[in-house]
Amino acid sequence: MSLHGQYDEQNIFAKIIRGEAPCYKLYEDEDVLAFLDLFPQSYGHCLVIPKNAPARNILEIDDANLAKVMAVVRRLTQAVVDELQPAGVQVAQFNGAPAGQTVFHIHMHIVPRYEGDTLGIHASQQADAAQLQALQARLVKRLQG
Ligand code: 5GP
Repeated sequence: MSLHGQYDEQNIFAKIIRGEAPCYKLYEDEDVLAFLDLFPQSYGHCLVIPKNAPARNILEIDDANLAKVMAVVRRLTQAVVDELQPAGVQVAQFNGAPAGQTVFHIHMHIVPRYEGDTLGIHASQQADAAQLQALQARLVKRLQG
């Protein structure tokens, strides 16, 4: 499945929200659920999802639900850093299979990173500076437009 398509109510995170599949829950409120990733990229890899937004990706979720998710992401990231003392922490989110998405209910990854880690998602080469500047200018303009 890719960027465009229908939300599938039978995806694994929808089942977790409905209590039809188990999870190692870390936090839950009316709108947001956080739990441990079952196939962690590192020790302490967490996931945060909206409970009331049947959105596959960031293009489909409404601003209010996204804001609620991000508030929990920040709180949980702080807890992960305080408790596990990683050297760094990734907060990541993928949209569409070609971008690395495998579960099509929007989710935020919190992945603590430790010295000597092999990064799962990491550019091997730095991009050309002029190219980056041009891209930056285009995106800034687009955001302001
Ligand atoms: P994505 O690749 O879609 O951004 O991330 C999906 C994440 O969900 C992966 O990190 C994968 O390990 C995790 N995952 C897949 N199935 C399950 C599951 O049944 N339970 C939990 N807790 N995590 C899962």
